[in-house]
Amino acid sequence: MPVNWKKEILPLINQYKGRKHPLEYGNFYELIVAVVLSAQDSDRHINKLAPSFFASYPNMAALAKADAESLHKLISGVRNFANKTKWLLALAAEIKENKNIPTTLEALTALPGIGRKSANVILREMNLPAEGVIVDLHVVRVAPRLGIAQGTDPKKIEKQLMDTLDKKDWGEAGMAISFLGREICRPTNPKCIECVMNRVCGYYLAG
Ligand code: SF4
Repeated sequence: MPVNWKKEILPLINQYKGRKHPLEYGNFYELIVAVVLSAQDSDRHINKLAPSFFASYPNMAALAKADAESLHKLISGVRNFANKTKWLLALAAEIKENKNIPTTLEALTALPGIGRKSANVILREMNLPAEGVIVDLHVVRVAPRLGIAQGTDPKKIEKQLMDTLDKKDWGEAGMAISFLGREICRPTNPKCIECVMNRVCGYYLAG
């Protein structure tokens, strides 16, 4: 019998519903900056350096006046920092003030340095209606294990999740799968015995 994912995903969503993203931020300006900095780097690393970044550039208007050299001093340890500096400066020049931060997937992904995954994270954290499903590296690993999606292409996995799940669950489902991957369904030795999805997980049931 095919798995009824619309129903079977609900215990996982309930487990993590509303839990804040591991990136630490105090407002949506800080959220956008942290999300851009965290691409291909770890949330923990970005959380460490973010306070001094935000002390120097407390809002979009301040960031819009920054120069690359000053930003490099603050984020030179971040992976791909030179491009991220360009993106942050271009993004700030475009948005100008915190109040202009976009609130749709289309407008967010039009900004430099923000792809669909980042935009989906931002929409969820801003408590705005989901327009897609968050697919980060954890979801790319866990969704095929579960059997809810196949392949390794984040875009294709997102499309499969959108086709499979109720739209009302898009916002929480991606993040819940991501949390599961961070905490339980690790790359090696997943803790299947204590996993809320083990009743329907293809990887676990295949033994
Ligand atoms: S049952 Fe195991 S493999 Fe399946 S999602 Fe849970 S931890 Fe991962």
